[in-house]
Amino acid sequence: MAYLNENFLKLKSGYLFPEIARRVRAFREANPEAAKRLISCGIGDVTEPLPQAAIAAMHKAVEELAARETFRGYGPEQGYEWLRAAIAQHDYRARGCDIADDEIFVSDGAKCDTANILDIFGRNNKIAVADPVYPVYVDTNVMAGHTGPADAAGRYSRLVYLPCTPANGFVPEPPKRHVDIIYLCSPNNPTGAAATRAQLEAWVNYALAHKAIILFDAAYEAYITDPALPHSIYEIPGARECAIEFRSFSKNGGFTGVRCAFTVVPKTLRAATRAGELHSLHGLWLRRMTTKFNGVSYITQRGAEALYTPEGKAQVRALIEHYLGNAKVLREGLTKSGLTVYGGVNAPYLWVKLPNGISSWDAFDKILREANVVVTPGSGFGANGEGYVRVSAYNSRANAEEAARRFQNLRW
Ligand SMILES: *Cc1c(COP(=O)(O)O)cnc(C)c1O
Repeated sequence: MAYLNENFLKLKSGYLFPEIARRVRAFREANPEAAKRLISCGIGDVTEPLPQAAIAAMHKAVEELAARETFRGYGPEQGYEWLRAAIAQHDYRARGCDIADDEIFVSDGAKCDTANILDIFGRNNKIAVADPVYPVYVDTNVMAGHTGPADAAGRYSRLVYLPCTPANGFVPEPPKRHVDIIYLCSPNNPTGAAATRAQLEAWVNYALAHKAIILFDAAYEAYITDPALPHSIYEIPGARECAIEFRSFSKNGGFTGVRCAFTVVPKTLRAATRAGELHSLHGLWLRRMTTKFNGVSYITQRGAEALYTPEGKAQVRALIEHYLGNAKVLREGLTKSGLTVYGGVNAPYLWVKLPNGISSWDAFDKILREANVVVTPGSGFGANGEGYVRVSAYNSRANAEEAARRFQNLRW
């Protein structure tokens, strides 16, 4: 008999997006006319075509693979040196962060990296997540057996939940108690909040004092518009001793379907054995990647490299401005209907407070019925998301404008 990983049975079976799909399907069947005007502001996936610089570089890379002289097979598991150098230079050293080329690990996604990173950590860590949270951080810890079962509110025992509310600007504060690993996501999915320098300093100081490690997900870094906000955790002194950073080309270059991301593991980062002996995590992650991964395709890495050229940068900027322009339009529509709207300035998500104690799912149904727009119920991201919906700015401008007009006419 083969035995399964029973931790999987603890998972609150992927409830959010299947339930949204179920309700949308029922609505379509009952309202075939209204179904034709449905607009989705529900998903976190880009809508606009790839930057021309990436397209040209990928075409050229395909041609190289077509000739014996320029053909390439397996590349380095950690990524080609020219891409690691471009990342370290443009994203870090140009911003004053002391990051070496070989501290960059290129991968096929930040989702996979935030999940796979658990391979290099022990089983006895106290783990903290924000509430609301990107569900991947929680579910991968459940799968790895780092939690007990979930309670009625969907909270797993042995995880520490850090509440994100208007009072803290939706940026979690370091807890009074001890934890060993902390997941931070800034700019945040789902709340659209971005941590200030002081807030990140408080976290780095906490992590150094507790010998804890911060897993910093900066997938939405490119959306930061406020010049006072840090773009990387490594802008904070001491972060090289306590933080791993995750980035992705999904939300800046629109690579959600192309697949390319990277993780930064400083060589100065250490964690302990049970006996208290310190080891470099860089060495462990390198070993993990060379054993379990065979690298991102040459074509894809050439596409990612092109995002750092002057044309590539300008085209990425235009994409970000497009989505942030949508966010502004959507925010105005929602505000005119009397709702309180957070986020959408340094992130492509609006986090909308519902009035009169309306639940996330009741608001989802009302917005679907009356505006024919699909949003995401905040309660799907955690107990503290109840009473909110997330509105995504990933859309065409025409759809964003139309959705905003319909939001404006909602009466609460
Ligand atoms: C979209 C997203 C990512 C990027 O994931 P990829 O696997 O690189 O596409 C990472 N973290 C968060 C919070 C996201 O929303």
